[in-house]
Amino acid sequence: MAQVQTPSAERGDLPPELDDPLFRQAVGQFDQVVERADIAVAVAEVLRYPERSLSASVPVRLDDGSFAVYPGYRVQHSSVLGPTKGGVRYDEAVTLGECAALAMWMTWKCALLRLPYGGAKGGVRCNPRALSRAELERLTRRFTSELLPLIGPQRDIPAPDMATDEQTMAWMMDTYSMQVGHAVPEIVTGKPLSVGGSVLRPEATGIGVVIVVEEAVRRLGWGLAGTSCVVQGYGKVGGVAAHELAARGAHVVGVSDIGGGVYAPAGLDLAHVDAWRREHGDLSGYPDASCVTNAELLELPCDVLVLAATENQVTGANAAEVSARLVAEGANGPTTLEADAILAEREIPVLPDILTNAGGVAVSYFEWVQDIQRLFWGPDEIRLRLSDLMRGAVDRVWTLSDSERLPFRRAALVLSIREVAAALTSRGIFP
Ligand code: NAD
Repeated sequence: MAQVQTPSAERGDLPPELDDPLFRQAVGQFDQVVERADIAVAVAEVLRYPERSLSASVPVRLDDGSFAVYPGYRVQHSSVLGPTKGGVRYDEAVTLGECAALAMWMTWKCALLRLPYGGAKGGVRCNPRALSRAELERLTRRFTSELLPLIGPQRDIPAPDMATDEQTMAWMMDTYSMQVGHAVPEIVTGKPLSVGGSVLRPEATGIGVVIVVEEAVRRLGWGLAGTSCVVQGYGKVGGVAAHELAARGAHVVGVSDIGGGVYAPAGLDLAHVDAWRREHGDLSGYPDASCVTNAELLELPCDVLVLAATENQVTGANAAEVSARLVAEGANGPTTLEADAILAEREIPVLPDILTNAGGVAVSYFEWVQDIQRLFWGPDEIRLRLSDLMRGAVDRVWTLSDSERLPFRRAALVLSIREVAAALTSRGIFP
């Protein structure tokens, strides 16, 4: 294989369109371990960048008759192992570089679980809370049309992410199906059951987070029963994780959403928290606990801190104040490189995103397989298959971490990079 004379990792530069803090974080993590992964320089150079990106302008007719145009992106990091897979988010912070980072992490996540997928990610830069349901539907359908040259059941399969849900996926599935003239459920995952969704997909990421945490605390010599847990981000991932932790006997003492959090050292009554949120829309004013800001929540004393909100939450500025014994990344990229180093020095293990939140893509894979074969499985079978996949990945990460004395994130990345590099080496770099 040809040698790359000056690998970009040594030059440290990035193309300007990808020069984004989150992509720097993803590439920084890659550069930290690539030597340890022991792969050919040219293969490393290919895997350091996304394969393909699409930038679109998405015009949307608003309810008052005026138009707004939103920037939309889709990035495919690697199709070496199969079609690319990854969520679509609606958020004001979406950029091409952010999508590239999230796409790269999806590649590692799929490889770590040995799913036949590469990584992708996409999104529209907008404030979804300021858009009506009808506006969100028009935005989704137009964005899907812009993605048509790139997506397909054997090419790239979108899924929900921040501020997108089953309904968003149903609109995407319908828009794609209208183009080809027949129903294509396998074009997206995370759909409603009525159009080919899978049981347990909505809960899968949160369930997977808790499978990984449970397995980790067991291996660390403690149990979940009686442990105190704080969950940042009480959304699709964090909300389910909090309930799963409580169901296993843990005390969930703090939870938060974007507006702030609540803290009750004896444990929160989550059913009551849910009823309050349903009635009031968020956690503010919740009566049976003290109010805390999101910054304070991260510093609460607890055994397990689950980060399930968004990226860049534990940073060089606050990692020294984290008082948990174990950090679990339900969100993608919540811990910066500086924070990783500080937590390692303080001997607080971090269960990395590419392992901990991989339950979502695992059940997305089950959904795609069920859609293709038009044969659907029950919840027991899915829970069992999910548990097998997650526990197998934890075991591989733990074993490498022990044998090569690597923090969990580095061990997970080394395993993932080796999987993708082996496939790319066998296939060769085209032409
Ligand atoms: P969501 O929109 O359902 O929930 C996000 C939650 O975090 C909400 O409660 C929101 O109020 C809160 N939040 C947002 N910004 C915050 C901030 N700055 N501080 C504190 N709280 C904040 O989204 P989700 O699907 O639960 O995704 C959460 C994270 O998990 C994201 O990083 C996403 O990429 C990742 N993830 C999601 C899935 C999935 O299946 N949904 C799978 C893997 C990873």
